[in-house]
Amino acid sequence: MTEKIEIGDGDVLLVVDVQNDFCPGGCLPVPRGDEVVPLINRLANRFPHVVLTQDWHPPRHHSFASSHPGKQPFETTTVAYGPQVLWPDHCVQATSGAEFHAELKIPHAELVLRKGFRREIDSYSAFYENDRKTPTGLAGYLRERGLTRVFLAGLAFDFCVRFSTEDAKREGFAVVVIEDACRGIDLDGSVAATRDALAGLGIACVDSGSIVGA
Ligand SMILES: [Zn+2]
Repeated sequence: MTEKIEIGDGDVLLVVDVQNDFCPGGCLPVPRGDEVVPLINRLANRFPHVVLTQDWHPPRHHSFASSHPGKQPFETTTVAYGPQVLWPDHCVQATSGAEFHAELKIPHAELVLRKGFRREIDSYSAFYENDRKTPTGLAGYLRERGLTRVFLAGLAFDFCVRFSTEDAKREGFAVVVIEDACRGIDLDGSVAATRDALAGLGIACVDSGSIVGA
């Protein structure tokens, strides 16, 4: 039998990038990405604290293939801070693609953290931008609020969820990934690589059924 995890006052659900562009029909769709919405709504109702992240790029962002002449989406290039996968234009500020999925209903979310708004730097993680040095402020926010354990759900498992999870651990938070509340892009085996990386860090990937309480 799977070990049960009880939700308590120090727990926060971090809902990563459940936005139109990452769902079927969007500019950078995660396969079956919209399937997580009803489950995340149900989970969020049971958490005392919820934070949403929102990928939020200016036009001509450096993570867009269209900003690099001759490059195609899903190629990797080298930018100032190292390798960067180039994506289709997505989650451009104030576009419908950047809005949360219409069925995502979490009115009690306490913070919407926008990331990726600096044109020169992408930000997969909710904690650090892709230069791995520029903090978003989320770690300080959670610490000041006395929140000590971060549960992650959302899109995409193998990019923004993965980086957010690893950084949460690095920042000293207890971390739990709710894997059935995530979907992956799976670029060149990135889903399996993510599972391996998280297991190597001792980070639990659990099923939502093992979460009890609240
Ligand atoms: Zn992005």
